Amino acid sequence: MPADILKILEEEYGNTKSALHYSSVFELLIAVILSAQTNDNQVNKITDVLFQKYNQPEDFAKMPIAELEQYIKTCGLYKNKAKNIVAAAQKLVQDYHSQVPNTKEELLTLPGVGNKTANVVLSVGFGVPALAVDTHVFRVSHRLGLASGNTPDKVEEELCAIIPQEKWSDAHHWLIWHGRRVCAARNPKCITCKLRDFCPGREDME
Ligand code: SF4
Repeated sequence: MPADILKILEEEYGNTKSALHYSSVFELLIAVILSAQTNDNQVNKITDVLFQKYNQPEDFAKMPIAELEQYIKTCGLYKNKAKNIVAAAQKLVQDYHSQVPNTKEELLTLPGVGNKTANVVLSVGFGVPALAVDTHVFRVSHRLGLASGNTPDKVEEELCAIIPQEKWSDAHHWLIWHGRRVCAARNPKCITCKLRDFCPGREDME
């Protein structure tokens, strides 16, 4: 069954990628940190302005936290994010020669970087197979019966066990776009969903 679901998702969303705007792995890292509990469009509005002025680890490492807060204050949790971004940039400058590291172990040493953020940076930024579980991936994979875990880490384990490794990064994007366009948290469009024949979570339309 996962193979059928993946095939349909690929047909529907094969060319989709991250909706976040970025032009370097460092910008991607900042955008992903900002995206926690904030939708990608809102993050893009912030970073489209912010990255024109500041886009290097050194810029953020020396930036007063209060200044960064002004740029990102339309984001959820912006005070915490501003503190983490400045601290992460300082660590990149001090410990990683101002380069974003490309291993999960190293990424997790950066303030504000948890498992999901590390997986997105690895897969989107470096092309390393990883399957980040955000709110869309979590919800859609539960409804489709692909996972039952009650935490993102457990769902990631379950999905990685049934999806071929070479599809992990793509599956992350496909499940997100399916969650945005069709399988929304409220009122999923089951009646037109291409996955309805495989979906134990579909809503009865009769
Ligand atoms: S059938 Fe409904 S619940 Fe299942 S994946 Fe499609 S939209 Fe989501």
